[in-house]
Amino acid sequence: MSQNVLILGAPGAGKGTQSARIAEEFDVEHVTTGDALRANKHMETEHGTPASFMDEGELVPDPVVNEIVRAALSEADGFVLDGYPRNLSQAEYLDDITDLDVVLYLDVDEDELVNRLTGRRLDPETGDIYHVEYNPPESEEVEERLVQREDDTEETVRERLRVYRENTRPVIDHYEERGDLVRIDGEQTPDEVWEDIRETIENEA
Ligand code: ADP
Ligand code: ADP
Repeated sequence: MSQNVLILGAPGAGKGTQSARIAEEFDVEHVTTGDALRANKHMETEHGTPASFMDEGELVPDPVVNEIVRAALSEADGFVLDGYPRNLSQAEYLDDITDLDVVLYLDVDEDELVNRLTGRRLDPETGDIYHVEYNPPESEEVEERLVQREDDTEETVRERLRVYRENTRPVIDHYEERGDLVRIDGEQTPDEVWEDIRETIENEA
């Protein structure tokens, strides 16, 4: 039976990195609001364009994001959801539209998050996630084409972490109080984090 997995954590905690592995290993859809919004950055909505919020590190309004998630989950036979919910009202919406089998929380200290985000680089051709120091690409060809996200500058990163503390921390508490949350030490190496995640999902199946 396919699994419905939610992965929570601060910006830079490693959600995208681990979600790609979850999607591959467990054959589920990677649903990520960040990528979906970036693909529609300049779409006009009655709330403005996603870009006008994202470039400032603010949350895109709930109606826009809720609809993206509803549509994506309704088409998925098993998923790993990454980047959502980011506030309590999104968490309540999610409770109404789906059932979750596993809720993971990647726990990483805030100082480390700034390093991870400002050093993050992406391969525009494959979508693979790299880091200048912690996870550089092996080939020079890949290295040359890497790009940095517009919101991975130190100033926007600080604002995103502030928004995270204010809006998203209560979401972690929401799942913790329900007893659903599995905390993973996100400061281990990517392979060690992955081992913990894989075991957790296998045990919940
Ligand atoms: P998120 O999706 O939670 O914002 P990412 O998966 O994009 O996080 O990871 C943020 C940055 O940290 C990337 O540059 C990635 O290569 C790096 N990274 C991810 N996991 C680890 C880890 N366990 N240790 C060190 N760096 C990591
Ligand atoms: P990261 O994991 O590095 O924080 P994401 O790619 O998940 O970055 O998100 C990038 C930006 O997209 C956020 O700063 C925010 O502006 C917007 N965004 C993503 N997911 C949501 C969401 N669930 N609700 C509101 N805005 C979102």
